[in-house]
Amino acid sequence: MPLLRSWVESANAPDTEFPLNNLPYGVFSVGEGDLRCGVAIGDRIIDATGLEQAGLLRADPQADVLDAPYWNDFMELGPVAWDAYRRGLQTLLAEDADEQVQETCVAYSVPMAEADLHLPFKVAEYTDFYAGRHHATNVGTMFRGPENALPPNWLHIPIGYNGRASSVVVSGTDIRRPWGQLKSPDHDVPAFLPCRRFDIELEMGAIVGQVSNGPVSVQQADDMIFGYVLLNDWSARDIQAWEYQPLGPFQAKATATTISPWIVTKAALEPFRTATPAREKELLPHLREPGPMLYDIALNVSMQPESAAQASVIAQTNYREMYYSAAQQLAHHTTAGSPMNVGDLLGSGTISGPTKPERGSLLELSWGGKEPITLQTGETRSFIEDGDTLTLTGHAAGDGYRIGFGPCTGTVIPALDAAELPY
Ligand code: CA
Repeated sequence: MPLLRSWVESANAPDTEFPLNNLPYGVFSVGEGDLRCGVAIGDRIIDATGLEQAGLLRADPQADVLDAPYWNDFMELGPVAWDAYRRGLQTLLAEDADEQVQETCVAYSVPMAEADLHLPFKVAEYTDFYAGRHHATNVGTMFRGPENALPPNWLHIPIGYNGRASSVVVSGTDIRRPWGQLKSPDHDVPAFLPCRRFDIELEMGAIVGQVSNGPVSVQQADDMIFGYVLLNDWSARDIQAWEYQPLGPFQAKATATTISPWIVTKAALEPFRTATPAREKELLPHLREPGPMLYDIALNVSMQPESAAQASVIAQTNYREMYYSAAQQLAHHTTAGSPMNVGDLLGSGTISGPTKPERGSLLELSWGGKEPITLQTGETRSFIEDGDTLTLTGHAAGDGYRIGFGPCTGTVIPALDAAELPY
């Protein structure tokens, strides 16, 4: 599919993240104004709440589903309404829209540079997976040796744990370094300290847009997914190493999870579908994909120390490196009977490629701290230091256009002083 041209000139630039082909959904405010639903186009945000109130574009003729600071009510309408609304937006914003329509849309829009962005949906529940083979192999090799790198179940099910929806924050939120219980290999007893090995995990987040009340097939799971965001699962490696056996991560993952501000819809990503890699072990029938359900999305991680004038790219990889798709993860999630709800967020698991510059965490990039990485400034890092800003970006590359997500960024600020703790 070529670039779809819009009368919003900035949406036709080959390097914009938000051409007419994209139309991602977010929540914005300007100054002290209310939070409103918005759609990104070029360098502007269309006020979707305003268009609905004015009767110019409605997702539901009966209800004001966009009269809310989140897209959950819209998602609940289902795939037919999602498609109709997207077609309506594309008509209003297409190059050949008449001048009256253009003028009205300009009146219901703001420059993106003047807006604050908020969480685009109410996160119902949050689950994080461990579905990147290169990541699992790297981490397993460091923790258990190359012979036991992949646990015996790994090639048969997408492994996951239930995280905290309350810890999900939007891009731009500062991240406070956590305190926690950890035990250094050099000491016999654990200590309660600020995390010393604070890290990122480069992931994609899939947003569930439909309810299920029983097991769903992989195809049904794919149909239930509304869209995708970039996701950074901030991780305290020293807390994790001490707590993770036998029930998996807990406080190591409870500080924050940052997501990018725009929900990129499955419809916008449709041209970039790709198959998961070849199976080493055949999956049981309930987890087999009936078609390509992963996406070709180039991903990039950069780090900027507080003192540095610019960020250094520290990793580049692609979402297609995942062993399991979000649809497979969602299908697996429902097998034992747990209902899924609109607004459930599924983290893909860390995305790493086969080579060193493709690793999606500092744990892997610095090989557990043994091989610090060097930034453009000449500074070195094994893990995150206070004042460092970590940014994920991603885009799918079409024919003369890109589908982007907006940055997924956060600056790590110092841990609380010991005197501020309640013990
Ligand atoms: Ca993770």
